[in-house]
Amino acid sequence: MTDVTKGFAYVDARIVPISEAKISLLDWGFLHSDATYDVVHVWDGKFFRLDDHLERFFSSMEKLRMSIPYTREELKLVLSNCVKASGLREAYVEMITTRGLPKPGSRDPRTCTNQFFAFAIPFVWITKSQNGLHLIVSSKQRIPVESVDPAVKNYHWLDFVMGQFEAFDRGGETAVVVDSQGNITEGPGFNIFAVKDTEIITPASGILEGITRKTAIELATDYGYKVIQGNLAPEYARCANEVFATSTAGGILPITKIDDKIIGNGAMGPVTQKLQDAYWSLHNNPQYSLAIDY
Ligand SMILES: *Cc1c(COP(=O)(O)O)cnc(C)c1O
Repeated sequence: MTDVTKGFAYVDARIVPISEAKISLLDWGFLHSDATYDVVHVWDGKFFRLDDHLERFFSSMEKLRMSIPYTREELKLVLSNCVKASGLREAYVEMITTRGLPKPGSRDPRTCTNQFFAFAIPFVWITKSQNGLHLIVSSKQRIPVESVDPAVKNYHWLDFVMGQFEAFDRGGETAVVVDSQGNITEGPGFNIFAVKDTEIITPASGILEGITRKTAIELATDYGYKVIQGNLAPEYARCANEVFATSTAGGILPITKIDDKIIGNGAMGPVTQKLQDAYWSLHNNPQYSLAIDY
């Protein structure tokens, strides 16, 4: 188990040990999942693509008509301070804005004061198995784009979580949920790619546009692969040479079994390996990383 006791949080404009970080039970972030968030990681003492994460976080807040009294530079400082307090060199750093509490007796979201929280905890992996995940294509549909914009990072996770239970029931380790056409969308905190020869397909819509997804697309394109953002049918994925997941919580991770079908030869394929190596190498590139001054 990840030891989260070592984490530090930013609550009410103070940095506190994670165990002392508390929020109000009446915050709509808790009562209504009325919140947005983002997760950036720190690897070897450096944030990876922090500007991209902040860009997405501010865009999510704007779409949800939320605001916080901090600039991006101020947020960088808050996040760095959480990491510095923890002393962690490898960290999972989450920033959250909730709707907050309405005026007493009101149900009007305009009366809410939005709340900002952040925390840094030891690095979290979406999976412990680095050798390849067994993925289940769940029958659950991701909440439709028309209802909740999945491009806003959100806590509407009941589809994912029930999908995970379905995966465990069927002997798998994690799940992807589908769209109304039955195409694969994404899983609990990760995007998905299928490699066939020199083509790589990743779902175009109904997803959170991951920063790791973006990095994988950039790297694969640089390597000369044709990356198609389109529909990914489960049948296509099951017959791909390689399938991989992308997430800030682990980078580029091989998927070696989908439902009952072994992908490729059941081990991490060469394209996934190449992209995974390139992904971690980018962490040393100052264009993509920001060193923390511990
Ligand atoms: C965070 C998340 C991802 C992955 O995004 P990254 O920026 O690569 O970490 C994918 N799907 C969902 C639903 C997510 O919440």
